[in-house]
Amino acid sequence: APLRNSAVPLSVTADTIALLDQIGVRPELYTGGSLPARSPITGETLAAVPAIGTEEALARIEAAHRAFRTWRNVPAPRRGEFVRLLGEELRAHKAALGRLISIEVGKTASEGLGEVQEMIDICDFAVGLSRQLYGLTIATERGDHRMMETWHPLGVAGVISAFNFPAAVWSWNAALALVCGNAVVWKPSEKTLLVALATQALVERALARFAAEGDAAPEGLISVLAGDRSIGELLVDHPKVPLVSATGSTAMGRAVGPRLSQRFARSILELGGNNAAIVCPSADLDLTLRGVAFAAMGTAGQRCTSLRRLFVHDSVYEALVPRLKRAYASVSIGSPLEAGTLIGPLIDEAAFKAMQKALAAAKEAGGSVHGGGRVALGLQDAYYVAPALVEMPGQVGPVLEETFAPILYVMKYSDLDTVLELHNDVPQGLSSSIFTNDLREAETFLSARGSDCGIANVNIGPSGAEIGGAFGGEKETGGGRESGSDAWKAYMRRATNTINYGRTLPLAQGVKFDV
Ligand code: NAD
Repeated sequence: APLRNSAVPLSVTADTIALLDQIGVRPELYTGGSLPARSPITGETLAAVPAIGTEEALARIEAAHRAFRTWRNVPAPRRGEFVRLLGEELRAHKAALGRLISIEVGKTASEGLGEVQEMIDICDFAVGLSRQLYGLTIATERGDHRMMETWHPLGVAGVISAFNFPAAVWSWNAALALVCGNAVVWKPSEKTLLVALATQALVERALARFAAEGDAAPEGLISVLAGDRSIGELLVDHPKVPLVSATGSTAMGRAVGPRLSQRFARSILELGGNNAAIVCPSADLDLTLRGVAFAAMGTAGQRCTSLRRLFVHDSVYEALVPRLKRAYASVSIGSPLEAGTLIGPLIDEAAFKAMQKALAAAKEAGGSVHGGGRVALGLQDAYYVAPALVEMPGQVGPVLEETFAPILYVMKYSDLDTVLELHNDVPQGLSSSIFTNDLREAETFLSARGSDCGIANVNIGPSGAEIGGAFGGEKETGGGRESGSDAWKAYMRRATNTINYGRTLPLAQGVKFDV
């Protein structure tokens, strides 16, 4: 079936510069440097960002540490006021930042705006949290004693982020870390430096407003380090960075995790996923079709929570899969800036090659591949692809890996217990879904013997989480949690305090020590 390709602009550079100007990024931050900023929409180079040197990066980490020593004394609700102002700046610049995200990552306009909305939401959440950093009061076994826990800031929180959520991931970490009393130093993806610079410009606007309220934040509290992975490694190894939150591939986590534990630093690892959905006999197939289509094809399969494995019960396979194939063949692919486009480009050539390699391996393993080829839009360095639906005889070969591209492996099943085993039999454990109207199946999926993932859903796809819940996954996904619920505790240290308000000194467990 013909693909309805929307027009792709010849160049987005002028648009980009206008957006940077509107947000307030100074031109010297993105001109004359050695790090190219690129748009996957056209493949063109947009700007040349100066790379930070090692010495300067180390100086910023030291400055952040000094800033932390002041910031920790600012009452948490006042720290929340700064985050509230940041949320206001994001609201005021939502359209510009959202469009910049679309340009630098290739997300559709609504996904670019959605990412900024997520940043606004976490700021709102963090403002409320700034008055709720609660500790428990605990019953003690000793008379005239009180036991309680208090939560204190940690220090500098290092943030390493991936290309596919170039600003939201920073905000999930930064909004919480800041109200918790920490400083934040960010090493963004080298593929999305303009979004990082724009985000920092909005931080600076918020800092100026905070100062105007009479509450200047200490110099160096929030900074961004534009550089490659070696700059990320500085954060990982620095003794004055007690926490690193690192989002990216499992390969990155394997490199970073042991180095952090070597120096007993804390880590929040948010790594790759290999997310699945199970479609049961009682599923509402119209709803399932929409849920699967968005989760598998949205953001061109470049979400950590993208749907990659679909298990369909024998009895509904013929009712669902041909319809799904038709949806795959008719989806609009093209410039994400055009209204109506559902699938934008892959981030770069390496992503395209990885996709083709996975499809070849799937064929080799007996898969039958529908779609997946390059969609020629007359642009040599832009990589638009038709999303691929691959019917697989079993969960083998590339099905066990995360390929960061729109590939959905579809498999048949006949028995729930067996499919639950298969569902969990991959190294990753991020997100998962079941489509069913059977209470027993739904609750089994959510139970201890059900999905082993950090996120498990019923009758919605695995992607598109809200900030109110804790976000993250198990096994090779790294085990970290960010965003809502009590994820804030990872950004603080807990002290247990026992206070004796009596005149005697009873020891715990009845121990006697009379001198
Ligand atoms: P990537 O691993 O290539 O890079 C991520 C970041 O890590 C970049 O900033 C990079 O410079 C840095 N980095 C890489 N190696 C490093 C090292 N040894 N030391 C310090 N820093 C290092 O990932 P990517 O291609 O940008 O993003 C895609 C991946 O991210 C996918 O696997 C996706 O599933 C994952 N992801 C996970 C989540 C999650 O919350 N679980 C969210 C978004 C993306």
